[in-house]
Amino acid sequence: MTENRLKIFCIEAGMLATCCYVISRENAETCVLIDPGAEGGMIARELDGLKPELILLTHGHYDHVGGVSELLKLFPDLSVACHEDCARQATDARANLSFHVMGSATTIPQPATLLEDEEKFTAAGIGFTAILLPGHAPGHMVFYVEDAGVLFDGDTIFAGGIGRSDLPGCDGDLLMRGLRKLVQTLPGETVLYPGHGPATTIANELKHNPYLR
Ligand SMILES: [Zn+2]
Ligand SMILES: [Zn+2]
Repeated sequence: MTENRLKIFCIEAGMLATCCYVISRENAETCVLIDPGAEGGMIARELDGLKPELILLTHGHYDHVGGVSELLKLFPDLSVACHEDCARQATDARANLSFHVMGSATTIPQPATLLEDEEKFTAAGIGFTAILLPGHAPGHMVFYVEDAGVLFDGDTIFAGGIGRSDLPGCDGDLLMRGLRKLVQTLPGETVLYPGHGPATTIANELKHNPYLR
């Protein structure tokens, strides 16, 4: 199944060490970026020669979008896709918490593409399905690459933890409902790439994550 192999690496950026994932097909020249959270120039230098074709945003918190504006300047053909509620949050320095936490405004230009729940699309030769999983943030999406068995899940589930639900705009019940449905729907061997910390699998989290018991 070599045709389904993906190259995935994480570039940690910003004070919260948010994981910006760089995803490409083996031997491809283009890639998809997920959540460039800060330091766009540094991320651009770390791309290993890959040209970014699309930025996907899981949600609009400043620590997941702070690198977007600089990357868009460096790569004029690059565009951004996310849910419309994520776009609303990311483009507003109060809603994206940059004012609240950092005391300075970080926003992004209006994303070119607004994604719907369960929308399928292809970028850099990779087929994605966007799945809406709000609760940690409005319009939070997770991105599933079915043929590679991987899910980029933002701040919904981490190795041994789940996303915060105590921030403005959060809804803990909604997050838990979405998470339970997700882990029951996707195969256990699905590899999870969260917004912070190490990768894990659904099976592993079902066994060890105290929030899913
Ligand atoms: Zn967040
Ligand atoms: Zn985060």
